[in-house]
Amino acid sequence: MEFMERRILQEGEVREGNVLKVGSFLNHQLDIGLLEEVGEAFYEKYRGAGITKVLTIEASGIAIACLTAQKFGVPVVFAKKSKSRNLDDDVYTAEVYSYTHQTTNRVTLSKRFLTSADNVLIVDDFLANGKAMEGLLDVCSQAGASVAGIGICIEKGFQPGGARLRSKGYDVTSLAIVESMENGNIVFRK
Ligand code: 5GP
Repeated sequence: MEFMERRILQEGEVREGNVLKVGSFLNHQLDIGLLEEVGEAFYEKYRGAGITKVLTIEASGIAIACLTAQKFGVPVVFAKKSKSRNLDDDVYTAEVYSYTHQTTNRVTLSKRFLTSADNVLIVDDFLANGKAMEGLLDVCSQAGASVAGIGICIEKGFQPGGARLRSKGYDVTSLAIVESMENGNIVFRK
């Protein structure tokens, strides 16, 4: 069994609304050793892909992106969840509906930090309905940046995000794919 699956079985808690809590190692307390393994796994997969930046969205994606970017020797850039109404002209913006908070955030990213010269690896903690990822892909498209791949710690395979992204041709690498978690019983996709 893969390291992420093992850890989910040990410490993951299934909550109402198909939410998987992993606050003890990924979303609140951070296990840096585990994040290092995450970075290594994404590096092994994309080392030959000419990655120039690792892109994510605040807040939970940042630690994953840092440990990944360290392996590639490239910067991290993260989309910010903006509350400000007055936006500068020098930012890309996208709307992102949050599954866990059930709110829509506008995310912004400075045009200085993502351009058509970039070839990015996008990473995040969870992939569920794919809204966060669609926002990041929208920002990449505005920048003219290419997307070499998408690295996800935990994909909830019973929600449509992963299938939709793969059908659009994106290379999605998920370290664990939860097939179902009915009655608190977590089953992974083989
Ligand atoms: P999506 O946009 O793909 O529907 O959801 C992805 C985002 O929602 C992730 O960035 C993650 O923060 C959050 N999320 C979605 N499902 C879960 C879940 O089951 N558990 C936790 N902890 N976060 C989730």
